[in-house]
Amino acid sequence: MSLIIDCHGHYTTAPKALENWRNQQIAGIQDPAAMPKVADLQISDDELRESIESNQLRLMKERGSDITLFSPRASFMAHHIGDFNVSSTWAAICNELCYRVSTLFPEHFVPVAMLPQSPGVDPATCIPELEKCVKDYGAVGINLNPDPSGGHWTSPPLTDRHWYPIYEKMVEYDLPAMIHVSTSCNACFHTTGAHYLNADTTAFMQCIQGDLFKDFPTLKFLIPHGGGAVPYHWGRFRGLAQEMKKPLLEDHLLNNIFFDTCVYHQPGIDLLNTVIPVKNVLFASEMIGAVRGIDPTTGNYYDDTKRYIEASKILSGDDKHQIYEGNVRRVFPRLDARLKAKGL
Ligand SMILES: [Zn+2]
Repeated sequence: MSLIIDCHGHYTTAPKALENWRNQQIAGIQDPAAMPKVADLQISDDELRESIESNQLRLMKERGSDITLFSPRASFMAHHIGDFNVSSTWAAICNELCYRVSTLFPEHFVPVAMLPQSPGVDPATCIPELEKCVKDYGAVGINLNPDPSGGHWTSPPLTDRHWYPIYEKMVEYDLPAMIHVSTSCNACFHTTGAHYLNADTTAFMQCIQGDLFKDFPTLKFLIPHGGGAVPYHWGRFRGLAQEMKKPLLEDHLLNNIFFDTCVYHQPGIDLLNTVIPVKNVLFASEMIGAVRGIDPTTGNYYDDTKRYIEASKILSGDDKHQIYEGNVRRVFPRLDARLKAKGL
């Protein structure tokens, strides 16, 4: 029996008080007198428990997943709002809540940290929060936003030395990064329907163009949402890499880049698993996330991605074990250590 580990979950059902506090914080950017204190946000353990038990945990039990790697709500990271101090305070609050959930439900939730990124600010400023989340909260990974401007792409590509301070810490602590943007503040890009998928595709192409993994051979990126357009256009990416005189993508990127299974229909999952080697695919649903409805053609939730893995005619039983558990434990070594410490 495999442990079913969902490597991509966000705290989308946090108590309303969190959003209210954030709205006050945003108001406080213009009017410093309105800026709330961190201590003004009071959320009890019972409120946290209720928000999880009736939502994520209920669905995990219904769908048969055991553990969720749990990070703050991605669209609420909104790194483009305010300055570094605004982001820093917000990230600290959100990370602490995910940590508290992981202590209330230690069998089911393991924290992944968001970073206090801010457009135009040196990513090295994120390191104190990153270290706190690893050392004090037991975070096993981070979410790295390749575009903290929220759709305007003002940061250098992920292969630029600009990002190296984060990568050095990731290597030091054996932390993978899910490359995950936040809310789009560019009306051309719908947040979850365009900006997320564009960013996934963009991050992969940036890595083709660069030589990042020569400098960081053990660095690991998880590209979510099935890799955006990457699997579908694998031939284009292979051809572009060939023209750029890059090594084969298997050697150039696939020791370092992984894809999740947040693809919400059977043909998409089948394509992913036809094109991308099994060792590079990690189970995930991003539940409760962007797409919450029921697919009328199947009668099941779109984001019940375990059903697609189960129904796959391409994957063997061992392949499924790798996707559900083996690959996730290999890509998240700190998770593996935590599970081994529990005898799992
Ligand atoms: Zn996400």
